[in-house]
Amino acid sequence: MPTENPLKTILDETRALLEQAGGSRRTVMLSAEVAAALDRVEGSPAPRAAAAPADAALRADAPAADPADAHTLEELAEMVRGCTRCGLSATRTQTVFGQGSATAELVFVGEAPGEQEDRQGVPFVGRAGDLLTDIIVKGMKLRREDVYICNVLKCRPPGNRDPEVEEVHFCEPYLLRQLELLKPKVICALGRHAAQTLLRTDAPTGRLRGRWHDYHGIPFRVTYHPAYLLRKPQEKRKAWEDIQEVMKVLSGEVSPGP
Ligand code: URA
Repeated sequence: MPTENPLKTILDETRALLEQAGGSRRTVMLSAEVAAALDRVEGSPAPRAAAAPADAALRADAPAADPADAHTLEELAEMVRGCTRCGLSATRTQTVFGQGSATAELVFVGEAPGEQEDRQGVPFVGRAGDLLTDIIVKGMKLRREDVYICNVLKCRPPGNRDPEVEEVHFCEPYLLRQLELLKPKVICALGRHAAQTLLRTDAPTGRLRGRWHDYHGIPFRVTYHPAYLLRKPQEKRKAWEDIQEVMKVLSGEVSPGP
């Protein structure tokens, strides 16, 4: 009796699921476990842990690129431009990799591109971006191009909703490699998503700010997201305190301590 090809079974079931879901839904989400199981199917050069547009996910000859293979920010940005690991690749206008000096001593990490960022391909250019620029230029007396600005997610979540767990899971390796390549003196997380992702915690921003953390040997400070500060201007004073601590460490005036 002929044995059923397990890869064919998986692909048939995936196609059936897509049909059931209706013609408008063209993405499938694969958990890391399912992707690993696919990898184990004999003779299958399977798509790696990915949530890709259906056609790409079903193309077993298209493994996801490994961010560790990028040796420069340009190579990594190119990899991100072609990324189809999650469903956001189907809704983005373009990826938003990051902006600033590749030798910046300070990196700001935000959450995800919004509408303006998706349109322009540049992080923090909307209202929250204007506030971040004011913090850098008027507060820190630096130029925006002296620092580096990026996000946890490189694609805009539709309607500016919060990033989903799977999206962070698939996008985080790009951010980690980006920080490895940048090797800044200080990292400043803007808000909960960046802080929780990089510190691997679910503690709220209010508990994480106000002290120094360590991110792979790099001093790491958490402050409020500019969009939150626009909604709660009364918290700007605390954010300014965080930024002043960042400035002291950047200038060598103090070393980061608990
Ligand atoms: N909010 C973010 O977190 N990032 C941006 O790029 C813009 C708004």
